[in-house]
Amino acid sequence: MAGIINATPVADPQQYKNVFVFLETREDKLLRPALEMIGVGKTIANKVNEKLYCIILGSDLKDMADEAVSYGCDVVLGAESPDLKTFRTMPYSHIVSNFVKSEKPNIFLIPATRNGRDLASRIAVSCQAGVTADCTEIDIETDTRILLANRPTYGESMLAEILCKRHRPQMATARPGIFPIPEKLKSPKGEIRINKVKIDKSLLKKEILEFRKKEAIDLTAAKVIVAGGMGLGKPEGFKMLGDLSNEIGGVIGATRPTADMGWITRDHQVGQTGQTVRPRFYLAAGISGKIQHIMGMKNSETILSINNDPQAEIFKYSDYVIVDDVYKVVPALLEEIRKYKKEHVGIAVENRESS
Ligand SMILES: Cc1cc2nc3c(=O)[nH]c(=O)nc-3n(C[C@H](O)[C@H](O)[C@H](O)COP(=O)(O)OP(=O)(O)OC[C@H]3O[C@@H](n4cnc5c(N)ncnc54)[C@H](O)[C@@H]3O)c2cc1C
Repeated sequence: MAGIINATPVADPQQYKNVFVFLETREDKLLRPALEMIGVGKTIANKVNEKLYCIILGSDLKDMADEAVSYGCDVVLGAESPDLKTFRTMPYSHIVSNFVKSEKPNIFLIPATRNGRDLASRIAVSCQAGVTADCTEIDIETDTRILLANRPTYGESMLAEILCKRHRPQMATARPGIFPIPEKLKSPKGEIRINKVKIDKSLLKKEILEFRKKEAIDLTAAKVIVAGGMGLGKPEGFKMLGDLSNEIGGVIGATRPTADMGWITRDHQVGQTGQTVRPRFYLAAGISGKIQHIMGMKNSETILSINNDPQAEIFKYSDYVIVDDVYKVVPALLEEIRKYKKEHVGIAVENRESS
């Protein structure tokens, strides 16, 4: 049969208002992707003169709610219970879906973290909405209030703009590390509505016995990244990059094939299937610049690439390039930096952002 069949009723857009974002937390702190959501949510809310609502769940919300307001949230909707201290799919999706059903947002944004993806799909089903996953650009058409959700497609070679015209809320998940954290407001004003809730036992079938922290590298907070690719030729190349990285207060990044080869652990991988980063300085050593890698690091403030191929693709994305062998360039850089630091005692580079 020809034509489109509407499986679910078409929503009346006039009944849906404001931009909502979900704030992901860990150990009673807003995570960086939560702040990124506030930034992008506020930007599109301002464009259509609507309010930014932040949904937050946890066991002790006061400080986090204040922080959300300080970054520009107009209304914080909170649900507080000891059972919500840690993300759990069932109670979280149940409560957030209820917020969405009762408040009727026009737009609802969720970070595309592991928990965010889990949550978004369940809420979309529960609210009979769609969700555009893993967006890297988000905007709004001001006259229609239609969300312009852009996400890479065809192996990141193209950008697809996906519109949801018939159903509400218009939902999207946003790739972490892409959207900037907003400035704190000088005199923030916001309404905080936190309700203590009791969680139905049927939603708490899984019991969390213990949390073990995985020793994983968080590249998203790094200000300096020294990344290596297959041009290193052997795992020991990362040892050399480690020396340089230590000297300049950086952390090690890597391309996917180097992680596939076991030269370095997967948590160092930058790119489409790794982490998306935006450090102040990104050094790419022996990296060709395939689009899947570029997607993860192109927002770095300054990029220096070292490659022995003068035609290397990565040079198109770089601010500075050195055409030579990594094994000549990196030791020479290291020597120069050490010499410089010796002559200018007291130089220290602080890599991590203060939390
Ligand atoms: C679905 C999908 C997802 C992917 N996700 C990711 C991802 O998240 N991250 C990622 O990185 N890749 C990803 N890839 C792989 C990606 O397509 C590339 O294969 C990969 O980024 C290439 O890694 P590379 O630059 O280390 O290696 P290569 O492409 O082999 O490049 C090595 C470079 O080193 C240079 N070189 C060689 N020797 C030297 C030397 N002695 N000194 C200086 N330069 C030298 C060469 O000129 C070359 O440019 C993905 C691919 C697919 C299909």
